[in-house]
Amino acid sequence: MIAKSEAVAVLADWLVPVDSDPVPDGVIVVEQGTIRFVGRTLPMAFQSIRLVRLPSFAILPGLVNSHCHLEFSDLEAPIPTGESFPDWIRSVLAFRRSKYSHPEQLASNRQTAVASGIRESYQAGVRWVVDMATEPWSAAWIENAVASISADSPSGFAPKEPVIVQPCFELLDIIEHRFEATLALAKKHMTAPKSNGLGRMGLAPHAPYTASRKVTQCCADMPREEHRLVTMHLAESREELEWLQNRNGPFAELLGPIMGETYFERIGQVTEHVELLSKAWRASIAHGNYLSQRDLLNLAEHAATMGVVHCPRTHQHFGHLHQGDPPLTPTNRYPLGERIGLGVRHFLGTDSRASNPDLNLWTEAKRVRADQPALSSLQILKMITTDAAEFLDIGDRYGSIRVGQPSALTAIKLGDAIPRDALLADRNKLYDALLEEVTVSAPLECVVLGKSNSNIRPTFGS
Ligand SMILES: [Zn+2]
Repeated sequence: MIAKSEAVAVLADWLVPVDSDPVPDGVIVVEQGTIRFVGRTLPMAFQSIRLVRLPSFAILPGLVNSHCHLEFSDLEAPIPTGESFPDWIRSVLAFRRSKYSHPEQLASNRQTAVASGIRESYQAGVRWVVDMATEPWSAAWIENAVASISADSPSGFAPKEPVIVQPCFELLDIIEHRFEATLALAKKHMTAPKSNGLGRMGLAPHAPYTASRKVTQCCADMPREEHRLVTMHLAESREELEWLQNRNGPFAELLGPIMGETYFERIGQVTEHVELLSKAWRASIAHGNYLSQRDLLNLAEHAATMGVVHCPRTHQHFGHLHQGDPPLTPTNRYPLGERIGLGVRHFLGTDSRASNPDLNLWTEAKRVRADQPALSSLQILKMITTDAAEFLDIGDRYGSIRVGQPSALTAIKLGDAIPRDALLADRNKLYDALLEEVTVSAPLECVVLGKSNSNIRPTFGS
C-alpha cells in the first residue's frame, strides 16, 4: 500500500515523453499526484523513497481521446450499419427509445452508461475524453464516476483527477425551437462552477443534416476568450453529401417528417460549415471522411486552430470508401497520410460503442499503425498525446512528461519481439514496438499498484 503522502519512484525500461527523445531506464518520482522528477538518475533527495521497477514497460503521457459519445457505453456490441447511414441512425434512435421509456429511467440509465464509459476509457489508459454530450446530462455524474475511480486507487501515486471529461454540448435546429432549448442548456452547464473531473466545456453543432448554418455560426461567434472547443460531425457519409447537394437519398426520408422551417432555410453545405468553423477559437471535425480538396486546403491553412478527428474502427465499421470487405486496401483506407501530407492536422477518437466494440484508444492507434504504412509511429503517438493536448490547450498538464504535471500517465506493456539493443540503437524502432499488436495500455498507477485489469503486474522494489 502506498500512503497518500508517500513519494514513489518508478523505474521503467523506457520513458517516452513523445515531445522529446525516449529515455531508456528512466525514472519518474510522483508525490501527491504530481510529477516531482523525470530523468535517468535519482537525485539524492529521493534516494530513500520507495522504488517500483517496471521491466518491459514504457511510460507515456496520458492518452487523449478526441471524440467520444459516452452515452452509448452500455451497448454490448456495435449497432449494425444497415443499408445506409440514416438506417444506422434509425437503429441508434430505436435503441435509445427501447431502453428509456420514462424520463427518470432515461436519466438513471444514461448516468450508468456514462460512468461505465468513463471507467472503460480510464482502464485503457485514457486520461482526457472529449465527449459529445446530450440531455439528460449532469456534471455530478462525471464527478461521481471520477471519484469512484479515485476511490479504487487511494494512493499518493494517483493523480487527483484520474480522468477528465471535456463535454461538448450538442446543438441542433432541425426540429423547430430545439436550437434555443439546446443552447440554453449548454449555457447553463457552461456557466456552472467547475466540478472535479470536468474539462472546459465546448459546443457541438451536431451535423449538417441536423444543424443549420445558424447553429455553426453561433458557435463560431462564441467569445474567443472563453476558449470553447467547437466540434462537428462533417462529411461523414456519402448519404450526407447527397442530402446536402440534392435534398434526396436516404436522409430525405429520415429528415422530411421532422424538419422545421428555420433549419430548411439555412441548410449549410460542408464547405460553408468548414468556413464558419474556421472562425472559432478551436474547431475539430469528427470523421471528415468525404471532405473535398477545397475543404482540406482550408483546414490545412487553419491548422493552428482546426483539425480532424479520425476514428479508425468506426471508419471500418461503416466501410467508408471501401469496395469490399476488410482487410483494407489502399483504395478503401482512410487517406490519413495524404491528408497529413497536405498539412491537415489529425487526432484520433474512439467514437461510441454504437459503432465500435470498445473505447480503447490504444487499440485505435495500433489499428492506424497496421493500416497506414506511410505514417511513422511517432506521428501516430503524437495524435493521441502531444498534438491533441496542444490543440485542446491543455499542453501545460498533458501530452508530455514534465515536473509539476499531474501523474496522469499511461503505461504500455511492451512485447519482446524486438531485442532491447535494437530499440536502444534506433528510437523509431521503439516507437514501432510500442504500437505492435501485442502491446497493452493501462493507467500507470494501476500498474504500479498492481491493479491493472490486463494481467500485467509490476515488480515491486525494496
Ligand atoms: Zn461521433
